[in-house]
Amino acid sequence: MTDLNQTITGFDLWHLELPVTSRRDHGIGSVEGSCEVVILRLTSESGSEGFGEASPWSVFTGTPEATYAALDRYIRPLVVGSRVADRAEIMAKAAFAVAHCTEAKAALDTALLDLTGRISGVPVWALLGGKCRDSIPLSCSIANPDFTQDIALLEQLREDGVRIVKLKTGFKDHAFDIMRLEHLAQHCPEFSVRVDYNQGLSIEDAPAQVRDVAQFNPDFIEQPVRAHHYDMMAKLRGQIDLPLLADESVFGPEDMERAAREGICDGVSIKIMKSGGLSRGQTVARIAAAHGLSAYGGDMFEAGLAHLAGTHMIAATPEIKLGCEFYQASYFLKEDILEDPFVVQNGRVIVPDTPGLGGRPDMSKLNHYAVTKEVAA
Ligand SMILES: [Mg+2]
Repeated sequence: MTDLNQTITGFDLWHLELPVTSRRDHGIGSVEGSCEVVILRLTSESGSEGFGEASPWSVFTGTPEATYAALDRYIRPLVVGSRVADRAEIMAKAAFAVAHCTEAKAALDTALLDLTGRISGVPVWALLGGKCRDSIPLSCSIANPDFTQDIALLEQLREDGVRIVKLKTGFKDHAFDIMRLEHLAQHCPEFSVRVDYNQGLSIEDAPAQVRDVAQFNPDFIEQPVRAHHYDMMAKLRGQIDLPLLADESVFGPEDMERAAREGICDGVSIKIMKSGGLSRGQTVARIAAAHGLSAYGGDMFEAGLAHLAGTHMIAATPEIKLGCEFYQASYFLKEDILEDPFVVQNGRVIVPDTPGLGGRPDMSKLNHYAVTKEVAA
């Protein structure tokens, strides 16, 4: 059945705990041992399936428990019994059925698009307006408190053809950040370097430390202070001659409007887990571009399914010009959940051309890594 008027009959959930290879520190918190994601499967009456991933991080967007409850209790009733064709209406209702929980809404949007694409025989990027690129430059983050391990990672990235790294700063001390920037300048000149504080600096320390780091001339410096410190972001932006980017300060289109109006940044990190879906991520990018601001596609602690969703969004959004950070499936998870690997070649993420997301989870891995699940028999 290729009819989009068919009904959505199945709504299944898995809360996964996925082991990771190393510790990663950020200005707002650390991840060690495992990261947690929630997977949604929608099934239509003809038996077609669509998958979506929510990748919450408690210190950044929200918790996996809240994400699971948002989907299971508040979003499920809007979806089961609706038509596949009603994606826009379902998303509009979901926006008000539960406040915040943007990761849950991202998973829902992804699963609806995957299901629609599979039934229609077209890739998700075609449903988002068509494709503007076949591959996306990959940036990998350097965030290990043990820098010797990151030096080994840098060697691997160099061999793999990755040429963009993002140094996570502001989680230890300023000397540690400067030491690593000096190492990158001396030993890794072929890498383009970005710097991300993840809100790690106090308003007292930020001006001097940001000015110091700017001497190394990174591509940009991201989110040095707390998300709500819009005034301080604007002030820091005026003190350096390179772009200041916002991440935690800008979740959805509403934040982007305010950030542009108040002049807090030169560009923005766009993540479907913050915007609450792929179409809303595109809206953030268009608002940014309308104000002359740049954008890249960021990620949370994600598995390959969320990477695929982000890849399709960027493929269909010419305004997102600064690449992507979909490195977790290849360089952070001990094992990804996709049946076929998430494809990175010569430092670029390859945009799939097959129907839907162009990849699906391995069901045995979902069941293996599940700590909670709600799956119809
Ligand atoms: Mg960031």
